[in-house]
Parts: sequence; structure tokens; C-alpha cells
Amino acid sequence: MQVKKLADLNVAGKRVFIRADLNVPQDEAGNIVEDTRVRASLPSIKYCLDNGAAVMVTSHLGRPTEGECRAEDTLAPIAVRLGELLHKPVRLIRDWVEGGFEVKPGEVVLLENCRCNKGEKKDNDELAKKMAALCDIYVNDAFGTAHRAEATTHGIARFAPVACAGMLMGAEIDALTKATENPARPLVAIVGGAKVSSKLTILKTLAQKVDQLIVGGGIANTFLLASGHRIGDSLAEPELVKEAQAVMDIMKARDADVPLPVDVVVADEVSALARANRIPVEEVGPHDRILDVGPKTSAKLADIIAHAGTIVWNGPVGVFEHNQFAGGTKMMASAIAHSDAFCIAGGGDTLAAIAKFHIAQDVGYISTGGGAFLEFLEGKTLPAIAALEARFND
Ligand code: ADP
Ligand code: MG
Repeated sequence: MQVKKLADLNVAGKRVFIRADLNVPQDEAGNIVEDTRVRASLPSIKYCLDNGAAVMVTSHLGRPTEGECRAEDTLAPIAVRLGELLHKPVRLIRDWVEGGFEVKPGEVVLLENCRCNKGEKKDNDELAKKMAALCDIYVNDAFGTAHRAEATTHGIARFAPVACAGMLMGAEIDALTKATENPARPLVAIVGGAKVSSKLTILKTLAQKVDQLIVGGGIANTFLLASGHRIGDSLAEPELVKEAQAVMDIMKARDADVPLPVDVVVADEVSALARANRIPVEEVGPHDRILDVGPKTSAKLADIIAHAGTIVWNGPVGVFEHNQFAGGTKMMASAIAHSDAFCIAGGGDTLAAIAKFHIAQDVGYISTGGGAFLEFLEGKTLPAIAALEARFND
């Protein structure tokens, strides 16, 4: 996978257009609740500013209706936060597609929510050409939207004089490539979370590549069903038992393994007050809900992780939001933190688990992309990355 990288380009005196992902969570008053994405976008912006570029940054925020820009759609609070982090004022430019605004070298402006522009989502060529005309260099740093072909993620890359990957996008591509092309073996994947249906494609793709496929959460319950276990009232998808069996068959044919839980933590409800019981998996009763793996299983999984060369992690192995069902995910997080393996992790709830167990410093790479992360691992072509690849040689 070859794309031009921002750090290799001379940006002095150039007009640089950065498509970032600044889609942060906000409260009802519009205050930024969590600013990881803004911080993650800083390296590219700083590189351009430090090297004398005139910098324009845009992002989507929420789900506006194209052609409208309501109060809740504005990037104004993000301009303020960006200014605080950069220690310089960041002007917000509304109605920017037709140009008519000035940006000096060493200055950064924020271009209002790109999803307010008509034609953004449909990757409209006219819109993309107008945006491309604003810049000398187009930088895509929004890995989180790389699986979508939109005017600021795809079209503009075709028409801008130069198109390259930003620092964050470059790091994402490097880390994901390292984990998927010639990974250090054994390659261990952990796919947990609620439902097989949302992760079926990735389970099938990974089954063809990995040495061990650890399934967890509701996904493991469906696999337990497929192996003939009783799972009581647990969350599972009986209609996908055949698919789960197919995944285990692919692994078996390759002499690879899907280790299933030998003991589990059950309760009769999912709540903070629920009473948890640790039992062997054979003893799950008709009204039990499996909400975590038990200590024997945790130890087994920790051992697999300790001997891994590469780990790909998406999804918790239990309802880690409640402490009595967090043990399995906590044990796994700790095993990952202590392992010498290169670990790449992604997914909204996976990131929440990493934060809860304070292991962020010890994970090789934490992806900012949810959907894009999964699609990359599935081996799909991400349109935004493909558009950069197509511009590698010019
Ligand atoms: P991610 O966002 O990292 O991709 P998912 O959204 O697929 O992960 O799944 C996370 C959710 O799965 C969490 O809210 C967690 O509580 C839930 N979960 C994990 N194990 C179970 C289980 N055994 N039964 C029900 N829900 C579970
Ligand atoms: Mg989730």
C-alpha cells in the first residue's frame, strides 16, 4: 500500500487543505465531552504550521442535513478547543466552498462542518473540484471516515494538485499493515462484543489468517451454542449458529484453534446490582445469563496472549461496564499490557475498556477508526485510502 505522506512533502508557502476527523462527542449545550480526536489531529496541523504552510482544516460533526447548518452542526466549539491546544486563534470560516477568504502562511483556519455542503455525502465531482481549487496540497488525516467515499475524503483527492496521507492516517495505515501483512506469529485475534451479526465478515476473514481466534461476549455465546452447549438466557444469535460453525470449521481445517470458555460468570440480570456466580460452562442453568468468562478461561486466554507475536483486538469478552462482569476483559487487558506482542486495538467499546483498565500506554497501536478499522481488517478496500494510492506517482 503506497501513499504520499505529509512528512515527506515541502509545505512552505503552500495552501494545505486537511480533512481531519474532529467529530467529538458533545453534551446538550454543545460542550466537548471528550477531545481525543482533536488531539490526535494536532501533529499534521502543527507540522504544516511549523513549516510555513497556510492551513485550512475541515471535518464533519454529527449528522447535519446538507444545505443547512443548524446551531448544533457548527464546528465553533472545536475552533475554540483547537485554538487552546495550538496556543493561537483559529478562525472559523462559514460558506467556504467558493473561496473568498484569506489564510496567511503560518495561520490556521477551520472550515465549517463539511457535511453541511450539498453533495458531500454523494461525493459530488463539482463540489470536490471547487474544494480542490482552494489548495496546493490535500491531506487526508481522517482515518475514521476512510471507509466512506465523500467529497472531502475521496473526490477532492482526485482533483487536488497533490494528495497525501496526514500523520494520523499514515500511522493507522502503517500499524494496520504491520498487523495484517507478514505479522509476527502466532497471530492472535480477539473478537468480542455483543453480536456475531455485526462482526461476521471479520470473523470469517480472520479465520483464514490467524493462529488463534479468541471469541468473547455474546459472540462466544453463539459459538458455545454451535458446539452444543446450553447457554440459558444468554445473549446469542441462534440463527447464526451455522455461521459460527463455519468459522470454527475454517480454523480447524487450518489446524488453528477457537478456544471456547470452560468456565463463565453468570447472573440473572444485567445490572450493577446483579449477583454474579462463577460456574463451569457445563453447569449453566436455563435462567442464567453468561456475562463474562470465568477465571480458568481468563488464565487460558492470558497464556495465549502471553505467547502471541501479534494481537488484533476488537470487542470486550464480558459486560465490562459492570465490575462483577469485568474480570475477563480486565485480565485480558493486563495480559496484553504485559505481552511483548505488537497489539493493535480498535472499536468504541474496546477503547472504553482500554481507558477503564489504564493500559493505553501499553498497547502497540490504538486505532481511531471503528468501522474503518474493521473494514481494513476484513481486507476491504477503503475508498479514501485507494484515492490516495491512485495519486502516489504524481
Ligand atoms: P466494540 O465497540 O469495541 O466494537 P461491541 O460494540 O461489539 O464492541 O460490543 C461491546 C458491548 O458488548 C459492550 O457494551 C458489552 O457490555 C457487550 N457484551 C460483552 N459481553 C457480553 C455478554 N456476554 N452478554 C451481553 N453483552 C455483552
Ligand atoms: Mg460498540
